[in-house]
Amino acid sequence: MSQNPIEEKNASKNTFKKIAEGFSHIAIGMGTVAMQSTRDPVSTTYPDEMPTLYPTSRHRLALNVNPLTGEHLCIACKQCEKVCPDQCITVIPDPTAKGKVQEFYIDQGLCMFCGLCTEVCPTDCIINTVDFEMSDYSREALVYDIKKLTLKRDESEFYFQFKGLDLPKVKVSPVAKAEAKVEV
Ligand code: SF4
Ligand code: SF4
Repeated sequence: MSQNPIEEKNASKNTFKKIAEGFSHIAIGMGTVAMQSTRDPVSTTYPDEMPTLYPTSRHRLALNVNPLTGEHLCIACKQCEKVCPDQCITVIPDPTAKGKVQEFYIDQGLCMFCGLCTEVCPTDCIINTVDFEMSDYSREALVYDIKKLTLKRDESEFYFQFKGLDLPKVKVSPVAKAEAKVEV
């Protein structure tokens, strides 16, 4: 069916309008590209450059020692084990000494880094470190024992400062207390 002259005029007007709109969108797009190409990149080139990590970053789990004395901070209360939704923590208390831990396992491959275990820990023993580079060749290798989990004294000192944690109180033995009283 042929169009009347008025309809034909309107149709060609619409075509020109659409072409003009298309060019204006291309111009806007090119302007955006030109503007972005002069900006500094916001992404980092890991692994050449490490990203900035924050005290609240949640990565590989570790166990703190007292930065003042080097004493292990786990009191084997098992609160972290109970709260873990993934059941990836196993705490084995020392049967010969109350409040001491004998073995500690975390399946880092199963952990979802929710941080719940770190929140319930009464001694700031279990923490999330900023280390996220722990890929390995087997699932078994991601099950860390107490030796692999426990931080060195200087590392614990770093994390207490970095995370703004209060330093643990140094325990004084009953003998030392008695000696201090005699001196007074
Ligand atoms: S961070 Fe979450 S999932 Fe991982 S061990 Fe702690 S409680 Fe379990
Ligand atoms: S909550 Fe803390 S102190 Fe208690 S068992 Fe876990 S790591 Fe040890």
